[in-house]
Amino acid sequence: MLAEPCPKDGGIQVRYRGKVYCTSHDDLSSITEGSAVSYDTVVTQMREVILRRLNETTAALATERDPAREDQLVSLASKYFELLQKLPQK
Ligand SMILES: [Zn+2]
Repeated sequence: MLAEPCPKDGGIQVRYRGKVYCTSHDDLSSITEGSAVSYDTVVTQMREVILRRLNETTAALATERDPAREDQLVSLASKYFELLQKLPQK
């Protein structure tokens, strides 16, 4: 519970996971439900992020002329690829 009342309606505010919520106007039930993250959701999200990054890295590699930078990009792509293969397949 925080000392400062809600600036909107003067309600009691609580801090939860780094965010401030008002007990009068914020729907607190959605916060507790939202805290349960499913493993599948994370894996799906991670796969999407890695694929996007891998795509960007490949595009950058195609136009890169500096050998040192090229080396960085190749090792980066290799890590992304490794990570992708570590993710559980559906
Ligand atoms: Zn409020």
